Amino acid sequence: MLKKIIIGNWKMNPLTLKEAEKLFSGVAREVSRAKKTDIIICPPVVFLNKLAKIRTSKIKLGAQDAFPGDVGAFTGEVSGEMLYNLGARYVILGHSERRELGETNIIINKKIKNSIVAGLRPVLCVGENSRDGNHEYFNFVKNQIEECLAGISKNSISKIIVAYEPVWAISSTPDRKDATPHDSLEMAIFIRKILSDKFGKDSANMKILYGGSVSEKDAGEFLQDGGVDGLLAGRASLDASKFSHIVKICEISSN
Ligand code: PEP
Repeated sequence: MLKKIIIGNWKMNPLTLKEAEKLFSGVAREVSRAKKTDIIICPPVVFLNKLAKIRTSKIKLGAQDAFPGDVGAFTGEVSGEMLYNLGARYVILGHSERRELGETNIIINKKIKNSIVAGLRPVLCVGENSRDGNHEYFNFVKNQIEECLAGISKNSISKIIVAYEPVWAISSTPDRKDATPHDSLEMAIFIRKILSDKFGKDSANMKILYGGSVSEKDAGEFLQDGGVDGLLAGRASLDASKFSHIVKICEISSN
């Protein structure tokens, strides 16, 4: 069965380990019957080790960034190998909030390559900051994908998940606007075309997700009509019942 994917990006939340354990355990309890969904939670790195010890076969862990390299003189950084050893199996790379801090496509490309070597599945975030009448935003996303995936071997490409996150729809963007399943659908089709032009049939199994203020209210529409294989939720993933609700909607929509 081809499973859909629901990822929770906790960003820099919550404040304490106790809260993190409560949130994680709450989700684990509520999704214990999930069968058709790969559920991935990406907490702050400081909680990974402890959350990995909470017993659940339904949730996998991911990180929110990974430095390229295994060990070395890189003050403040954490490598993909270290994250793998802590229990992470996925890593979000190129999130718009990190791009805002200066991360370029070239840096993201290095991180993707290294994460694959470390045994992590990269979740590459792409998405335009705003939309323009000339549809230049398609070229912007194309360029992000081409530069971030430059030099990735055809053998590795199916490990990469692409998350389309229009920055203008993300909950942390001031004056954000709602994206529609149609916005997601047209970009998902476009992304699949770019991937197929670049990687041929090896790209056929790649998963594409939508992210941008997804909630339990619109998850069903995005899963049905958004042309994607799953969702990446930020704010909604900080509420165990909302996030679990999204997973349950995904289970139903996979029938
Ligand atoms: C995100 O920033 O990855 C995200 C999906 O956030 P939100 O759902 O809060 O818009």
